[in-house]
Amino acid sequence: MARIVPLGTNGYFPSHGRHTMSFLVLGPEQALLLDAGTGVSRLLEPQIQELLRPYSMLNVVVSHYHLDHVVGLAYLPAVWARGGLRIYAPAPPLVDAEPEDALDRLLAPPLFPSSWRSFGVAIEALREERSRVAAWEAHLWRQAHPGGSVGMRLGDDLAYLTDTVADPSLASRLRGVRLLLHEVWTYDDTAGEAAAKGHSDFSAVAELVRCSQISAVMLVHHPPSRSPEEAETLAAAMARQTRVRVLPGIEGQVYEF
Ligand SMILES: [Zn+2]
Ligand SMILES: [Zn+2]
Repeated sequence: MARIVPLGTNGYFPSHGRHTMSFLVLGPEQALLLDAGTGVSRLLEPQIQELLRPYSMLNVVVSHYHLDHVVGLAYLPAVWARGGLRIYAPAPPLVDAEPEDALDRLLAPPLFPSSWRSFGVAIEALREERSRVAAWEAHLWRQAHPGGSVGMRLGDDLAYLTDTVADPSLASRLRGVRLLLHEVWTYDDTAGEAAAKGHSDFSAVAELVRCSQISAVMLVHHPPSRSPEEAETLAAAMARQTRVRVLPGIEGQVYEF
């Protein structure tokens, strides 16, 4: 049994009280952030600090280097001062960029007052399909997205697929996972615009969920224009069409899976 706390569930930029992408996974021994968008700022909230109290190390795994997934790395020195920090970051051929090059551009003058190299953070480059991410045996693969992004399965606990064109042929790879986090960028994408931009349409995600034999799904990476009511409608439609348990993914709430 593990727990997950959505800290940021938006793509692109914050809206409707939602931050950009970050999820805190609390395992028996290790804490892991999936992505580091503006949601990282929620680590300052007292109830989140309380949840983190037993952990001395914070692990972060990044799916790719678009700002809505990494800008919160700049907040880490302020929100995680008391323990160790390790960042697992994708590298070629899984994505096009080398982690250190990407971080040198984002977290160094003139965009940031000092270099990330002064944070005392360990960087683990992820290049292999079979890699270790914190306590988890991870299966990683390159996804269809500008510059590449990494889809990941962490043991049987969870799979995290965002910033990708939904691919129902991945069902066998996800089989037996307890929780799938998958982006849904468009609801009814008759023009195919989502796929052209490296994003997912509801129908393709529903087909993948239906075929995967997973226990639960959480829909993530909401476009900023999506209202909380629309997000609820989307979750209800997913539950109806797939008969799979849909976790609402409200930021700050703790979900067991
Ligand atoms: Zn994104
Ligand atoms: Zn992206």
